[in-house]
Amino acid sequence: MRILVQKFGGTSVKSKASRQHAISHIKDALADDYKVVAVVSAMGRYPDPYATDSLLSLINGNQSKISNREKDLLLACGETISATVFSHDLLEHQIDSVAISGGEAGIITTNNFSNAQIKTIDTQHIYHLLTKHQVVIVAGFQGKTENNEVTTIGRGGSDTSATALAAALQAEFVDIFTDVNGIMTADPRVVSNAKKLEAISYTEICNLAYQGAKVIHPRAVEIAMQANIPIRVRSTILKDKGTLITNIPETDYSERIHDKLVTGIAYVNHITQIRIQEVKKPQQLHVLVFKAMAEAGISVDFINISPNGVVYTIFERDETLAKKVLNDLKVNPTYTEDCAKISLVGAGMSGLPGVTSKIVQTLTNKQIPILQSADSHRTIWVLIQNKNLETALNALHVAFQLEK
Ligand code: ADP
Ligand code: ASP
Ligand code: MG
Repeated sequence: MRILVQKFGGTSVKSKASRQHAISHIKDALADDYKVVAVVSAMGRYPDPYATDSLLSLINGNQSKISNREKDLLLACGETISATVFSHDLLEHQIDSVAISGGEAGIITTNNFSNAQIKTIDTQHIYHLLTKHQVVIVAGFQGKTENNEVTTIGRGGSDTSATALAAALQAEFVDIFTDVNGIMTADPRVVSNAKKLEAISYTEICNLAYQGAKVIHPRAVEIAMQANIPIRVRSTILKDKGTLITNIPETDYSERIHDKLVTGIAYVNHITQIRIQEVKKPQQLHVLVFKAMAEAGISVDFINISPNGVVYTIFERDETLAKKVLNDLKVNPTYTEDCAKISLVGAGMSGLPGVTSKIVQTLTNKQIPILQSADSHRTIWVLIQNKNLETALNALHVAFQLEK
């Protein structure tokens, strides 16, 4: 049996009209003799009535006092509604399909509700359904614990449902259908000149996704990489093949290195920078601060430790708690609020000089102060004020000739 997994995101199943486009891709796959596992997200985006954030708004959003287990029970309904409505539309097109929940698809997860991880997938039932139907529609973003409690697997998690099912079913590849034409050099909502990439390696897109490019969930990429299953990120409304995510051999980079140091740019905002200076007992300060942050469950990033003190960043949502913790420690922090972290990712920059210098030059020309920077083998990060984000992204995009 040749199996193809096709995942349709929220905007791809939002309306009858968008579902028609989705169905045309399913028809193409059936015409090519594939059995199709279609993974669907909740329909639309807030304020569409059955979108994940709309369901969340019924219970006061993330401030809700109900347990994460109950929250998952509610949020999983979005994908369940979507799967059934999609099955209905497929039947109208004389396509024989069946809709099932993530749990029914055999997806067993850990029990950390709202951010559960897939442990195993028992494929027996889904294989059985595939022998009887042309298409099996699986509600994305959800699974169940070993005790049969409904779980969700983190925001954007339908991508992960799709690649995990593909790995378990040994599918030939995974199509991720969405509202853009593929993976672009930057978020096209912010950089209007962003260009579609024909192909990208698992590692590069994984880096971009972890650094904020929400076009695909990073965990989804890791699972596909381990199983060596190619992914295509494609537009639902076009017939374009989109971007291929695969293991690009290093030899292919040799050509790209000369013209492209950077493959793509991503960003994360709603970040606060914390700076603590302590000249007397710096080591004690390092230990105290990071221990206190860990005990309070605050995740820290962009850490610079020096004999003069520490600088690091946290998410804005943790700022009130961090202020309380640092107040109790009686240290003297300064806070820079409303920052954004830009990441420039590229296998081509490895070992080549001049990338950082170009970034600094570009941002300085635009009079954008760099609050912090760091680099690794294939990524360079800079922290700036969020008010400069759009100018910085567009200027860096031009400087690295990504629109060409
Ligand atoms: P879906 O509901 O289909 O899963 P998402 O909203 O999760 O869609 O992801 C698609 C969005 O990702 C696009 O609308 C785009 O704004 C955003 N995005 C961010 N970075 C990139 C990038 N590098 N390439 C393409 N899209 C990107
Ligand atoms: N509907 C879920 C979300 O909005 C999962 C997904 O779309 O992938 O996060
Ligand atoms: Mg998504």
